[in-house]
Amino acid sequence: MSGLRIAVSKGRILDETLPLLARIGIAPAGEIGRRLIVDTTVPGVQLIIIRATDVPTYVAYGAADAGIAGKDVLLEHGGEGLYEPLDLGIARCRLMVCGYPDAPLPASRLRVATKYLNITQRYYAERGVQAELIKLYGSMELAPLVGLADCIVDLVDTGNTLRANGLAPLEHIADISSRLVVNRASMKLKLPAVERLIGDLRAATGEGADAPA
Ligand code: AMP
Repeated sequence: MSGLRIAVSKGRILDETLPLLARIGIAPAGEIGRRLIVDTTVPGVQLIIIRATDVPTYVAYGAADAGIAGKDVLLEHGGEGLYEPLDLGIARCRLMVCGYPDAPLPASRLRVATKYLNITQRYYAERGVQAELIKLYGSMELAPLVGLADCIVDLVDTGNTLRANGLAPLEHIADISSRLVVNRASMKLKLPAVERLIGDLRAATGEGADAPA
């Protein structure tokens, strides 16, 4: 599996990806710390550690051969230039419209705060709802509390963050999990290595996988 660069993002996805990679024999060589490029125990296989929203970009341009990204990020990016051969089934959550339960419809245009402008625009357009979208970069839950927006579009896992702020999930947009994505040229030029990576990950995530210890 030599000569592969794999893009992963810090946080939830990396926490769930490292055990998965370990099961297929790929482990960071030493501590990741603040390093952005990390060699692994497999010669020639590197990890690059980047922001989740940048994973599709690095892979689409071929700066990484493969990457692990949430379906939310892929839907927002559009997925151009990427193969998406495998659902890894990790970092599962739901993308939802959230807001105050039982809030009356706004008198004027619905205002929606989100970092997912493309997904949200498509969602309301398909329903013929005129919505004003407000781009935020984090802590979306705050927006309805201070009157910035009527509702938000965000990821929900346990629902604890919403509950802690008096909000509730209102409409389901998509089930989310992390996917393996592969650069289209790498798929051809590095076929044996890419096929091995896909096959090993499929075995490690599939029903035939060993039960975690
Ligand atoms: P929770 O309180 O468990 O519902 O988690 C909600 C918060 O965690 C929100 O701020 C979400 O944006 C974030 N979140 C939930 N699931 C994920 C995920 N799989 N990947 C990244 N962020 C997530």
